[in-house]
Amino acid sequence: MTTVTVVGSGVAGLCCAYYLLQAKYQVDIITASDGPDQQCCSWWAGGMLAPFCEQESAEPLIETLGHESMSFWQSFASKQQIEYHANGSLVVTAPRDRSLLRQFSEQTQGAQAVGSDAISQLEPDLAHFKNALWFEHEAHLEPRIFTQALWRSCQELGASIETSRRVSEAQFKDLQTNSDWLVDCRGLAASDVLNDLRGVKGEMLHLYCPDVSLQRPVRFLHPRHPIYLVPRPNNIFMLGATMLEVNASKRATVRSVLELLSAAYAIHPAFAEAEILEIGVDARPAFDDNLPKVRVDANRLYVNGLYRHGFLAAPAIARRVTDYIDSGLRCNEVFDANYS
Ligand SMILES: Cc1cc2nc3c(=O)[nH]c(=O)nc-3n(C[C@H](O)[C@H](O)[C@H](O)COP(=O)(O)OP(=O)(O)OC[C@H]3O[C@@H](n4cnc5c(N)ncnc54)[C@H](O)[C@@H]3O)c2cc1C
Repeated sequence: MTTVTVVGSGVAGLCCAYYLLQAKYQVDIITASDGPDQQCCSWWAGGMLAPFCEQESAEPLIETLGHESMSFWQSFASKQQIEYHANGSLVVTAPRDRSLLRQFSEQTQGAQAVGSDAISQLEPDLAHFKNALWFEHEAHLEPRIFTQALWRSCQELGASIETSRRVSEAQFKDLQTNSDWLVDCRGLAASDVLNDLRGVKGEMLHLYCPDVSLQRPVRFLHPRHPIYLVPRPNNIFMLGATMLEVNASKRATVRSVLELLSAAYAIHPAFAEAEILEIGVDARPAFDDNLPKVRVDANRLYVNGLYRHGFLAAPAIARRVTDYIDSGLRCNEVFDANYS
């Protein structure tokens, strides 16, 4: 039986492992994390599946990967009986920044411009906004629930998972010798060998706000501090996220937290009384063009650069990795031509 070692258990590693297991490979996962409730970049994600909104700043490839990944997540959720929310997303702004809404609509597809009646039907707690863009075909999921479910599914499909092991570069050589394939999904930690991988710091909070209820992610456009709120069950909201080109740091700054919180307050004044449950930080692994890549070095595949599209892109990338291992099929849009 062909053996594959996957290093890393963020969304990239777990999706690759899951696809390979479905294709009947023997998969061993090795991860520095100590369990499924790990604190890697994937743990802090919003879980927005927003291929249309992302057109504002991302290349068309992200939309393609996004649609494929969304189908995967939806069917995975129904198999696992976990909640997948396919009820769109809303983009709003303060009246003085209405031009931002127009620009956003020009840079994206798939939106309907809606007024206060439609807004109050979609999100009664946002009835004070007069204009919004409604992206009906977007979705969201809860990253922690989904990565935990992937972890469990990989075990059920026969994967071994070795936790709390940080593989060194010397050990990679042994793993390459002892497995038929090695899939390196270490996120930003792989910048020790991928010199063009950088971290884009993201800070986020979880808030409990019993006076606000939302059904779908809401993006708030702002000239300096665009933010979003992603609803979780029981009036909990993920508030995110900064995008800072600074060397990875594990701590949030006062400035960032203040900016995020003031923008949440601008969406709804009840956030003034919200309780802060958690402040999280990590650095998104990104290449220069902010696109995910698979790089091939003999039997070692690097799967990295998921940037702000980890959940939006990982399943589609994992499918392409499995095709390559299966039959040598190389998707040119994702496989880096400089590495073969
Ligand atoms: C605040 C925030 C919000 C985000 N929101 C969204 C969103 O709404 N939608 C979306 O699609 N994406 C979002 N993202 C982006 C997404 O989280 C990332 O793209 C994704 O998590 C990257 O996944 P990864 O598996 O490559 O890396 P990680 O999740 O960091 O996983 C890396 C894994 O490698 C392991 N590891 C590292 N070094 C070693 C080693 N030497 N040996 C063994 N194991 C090792 C780690 O323990 C970990 O398990 C967001 C990111 C942030 C920070």
